[in-house]
Amino acid sequence: MVDVTLITGDGIGPEIAEATRRCVDATGAGLNWEMAEAGTDVMERLGTPLPDATIESVKKNGVALKAPITTPVGTGFRSINVYLRQTLDLYACLRPCKSYPGVRSRYSDIDLVIVRENTEDLYAGIEFEKGKNDTAELIGWLNEHSERKISDDSGISIKPISVKGTERIVRFAFDYARKLGRRKVTSVHKANIMKFSDGLWLEVSREVAKNYPDIEFEDRIVDNMCMQLIQKPELYDVIVLPNLYGDIISDLCAGLVGGLGVAPGANIGEKGAIFEATHGSAPKYKGQNKVNPTALILSGVLMLRHIGKITEADNLENAVVAVIAEGKSVTYDMKPDRNDPTAVGTSQMADAIIEKIKSQ
Ligand code: NAD
Repeated sequence: MVDVTLITGDGIGPEIAEATRRCVDATGAGLNWEMAEAGTDVMERLGTPLPDATIESVKKNGVALKAPITTPVGTGFRSINVYLRQTLDLYACLRPCKSYPGVRSRYSDIDLVIVRENTEDLYAGIEFEKGKNDTAELIGWLNEHSERKISDDSGISIKPISVKGTERIVRFAFDYARKLGRRKVTSVHKANIMKFSDGLWLEVSREVAKNYPDIEFEDRIVDNMCMQLIQKPELYDVIVLPNLYGDIISDLCAGLVGGLGVAPGANIGEKGAIFEATHGSAPKYKGQNKVNPTALILSGVLMLRHIGKITEADNLENAVVAVIAEGKSVTYDMKPDRNDPTAVGTSQMADAIIEKIKSQ
């Protein structure tokens, strides 16, 4: 038995977590689920949206499947998702974007993997607010040491990109490409403008690439990358990006394959890995047995691969693909008309997937 933490989340979280757990169990993967809570529901009972027991469980097991969590507004708590990633140093955000027949989209043959750096860049949270003393001091120092002058009424966000941070994420992208038999890694940057941050990213990317002669390497400037992904997505395979570009381009790629309802994801580090859907907790659908469980189930597929349960992962993915391709037992968002009365609920879609697994 492999111990895995199941964070049930809030909003639609518990429903899709349960649907996913049943589908994963139907593969015979033999997981021992350790149930853990996070989000607004547990906040009301325990006064914290992230109990210590949940963090301890993820640390102990090293692998978690996490349903979405609402970011509390005006409570003094920051995003639990960000906190978990930082606490566990989950430096790699992995988002495969693959077309499945039956999912409505403008494209039909997308198969991309986005690898986003999760800890550095403009998202590092090093910010200086307009008008504060620290900010004035910083602006004073910068104006003294730089030819370009910064206006006194500026707010400032710092963009750190390190050798260590870049090395480990680019290596992660190449290792992933090698493990999954992918052909190419593309490193994305704006090194022509930001020479000391993105320039360093590019230099380190090139160095790391030398260790992987079996995998093709190329780089792209981020604006060109956006256009290329829309015009010729088939040219790309694994794409590795710093945090901010990764955030934007992973949503662009989710759009290429039919949107958030089918986009799985993972946040991975040396100490652990959390597998989760890209979408949020959609609170307005809470408790209605209505939403699409696909993104979390496909995150379960990624988790099974991560722990070496390859056959089980393939069986689960094939079952999801078959149910979506048939288009019968799918949730409202996968029907051509969203008011289609033949749409099934979350748990009925899971039932259909389990039936397929059993009939394989
Ligand atoms: P959301 O993804 O929760 O919902 C936006 C809309 O997308 C929904 O109203 C719904 O129409 C649709 N949708 C989302 N998931 C769906 C599904 N599985 N099936 C069918 N339709 C689906 O985004 P939001 O409303 O911006 O965020 C709600 C909360 O979730 C916020 O508090 C946000 O911070 C949080 N959030 C959490 C995570 C996470 O836990 N990883 C990720 C993103 C957002």
